Amino acid sequence: MRGFELKVHILGVPYRIICNEAKLAEACEEEGLEAESTQGLHIAHDFETRTIYISPLLSPIQWVQTLFHEVLHAIGNITGHWRLAHSNKANEMFVDAIATGLTSFLLNKNVRKVIEKILSEEEEDSHEKNLAGD
Ligand SMILES: [Zn+2]
Repeated sequence: MRGFELKVHILGVPYRIICNEAKLAEACEEEGLEAESTQGLHIAHDFETRTIYISPLLSPIQWVQTLFHEVLHAIGNITGHWRLAHSNKANEMFVDAIATGLTSFLLNKNVRKVIEKILSEEEEDSHEKNLAGD
């Protein structure tokens, strides 16, 4: 997979998602983590630099699981849910269970299709409201 960057919002909070091996390694070094054993990283020292790093060297399924894993840490950080935010062995297993479960659920193509269809109706609705002038 080639490296890329996305700007997203999680619960209204801006995040950068960076899928780049060199930048992940650099961020690991800053955090004192071993780059070789780190597939993803959630960094939220301040509002401006909130970033999720994902390795581009993962298999597609590992990549999605890692993305969900780091997004769950972001949700924990924003909402204050300790189990999602605080990294210890039991909490990491909890986060992994949700990430793995959601990924396996999304492997159903019909689920992805219906989610895309329903959310695009939501986008059309808000577009129509904007045109109506609210
Ligand atoms: Zn984690």
